[in-house]
Amino acid sequence: MNWIDAHVHLQGADLHPLTLSEGDRLGVERFVCSTVVGMGYYPTFEQVSQSNDHLSAVIRRHPDRVSGYCYVNPRHGAKALDDFRRRMEDQGMIGLKLWVATLCDDPLTYPFIEQAIQYRAPILIHAWRKTVGQLPYESTASHVANLARLYPEARIIMAHMSGQVESSVQLVEPYPNVYTDTSGSPIGGGEVAIAVKRLGAKRVLFGSDLYGACLASNIGKVLGAGLSEEDFERVMGQNMVSLLSEVKTSHSYAGGEAK
Ligand SMILES: [Zn+2]
Repeated sequence: MNWIDAHVHLQGADLHPLTLSEGDRLGVERFVCSTVVGMGYYPTFEQVSQSNDHLSAVIRRHPDRVSGYCYVNPRHGAKALDDFRRRMEDQGMIGLKLWVATLCDDPLTYPFIEQAIQYRAPILIHAWRKTVGQLPYESTASHVANLARLYPEARIIMAHMSGQVESSVQLVEPYPNVYTDTSGSPIGGGEVAIAVKRLGAKRVLFGSDLYGACLASNIGKVLGAGLSEEDFERVMGQNMVSLLSEVKTSHSYAGGEAK
């Protein structure tokens, strides 16, 4: 079955205490985590690096259950790039996480994107188009599409269907290197069905946004999308298994055959 949650956050320095037991109960084997939460929109290098230390420790404690995206604030330049390389090459992280410190297609991100391409590592990008309260450097599907056009080899995961499925899948549909995930409160079964129909099931990944979300209800969105069994299994894990199995670093994820 190999269900994988592709979008999870630590709570402080650790997993939410129920994450693994809920995963056992519901059939989610692996949680791909990043830090971000509680750090503020424009964290210092020290804050980011310390949070990556926390994630690295969690991965060491649960190598069979947890993988990690290295969070970076691209404004920190070379030292952040060094941090990313160290997390990937020495600490078994599997991808890059971008949040709201810069737009994802700002030239500040290019060195990180280019390094992630070298590792064939997925890049999870927070994306959200808001009616009010858009943050100044909060990416939307347009920024994701622009980055995908600039870097066709980058494996980009647009988080939360960018908050608005119709407009966002239309913008990223032309770029086969863009995946999206099912997390986010505006995303329900209907939105998952639309994304699968427009992008194909191979470009949609199950994600919950734990710890601030309910794992069961997030699985319910995918269950409720009316997918074929084959497409359901792709979304719930096979696509992420494929992405993880191609990452070229020290990570210990054995992959498991995509069934
Ligand atoms: Zn998130």
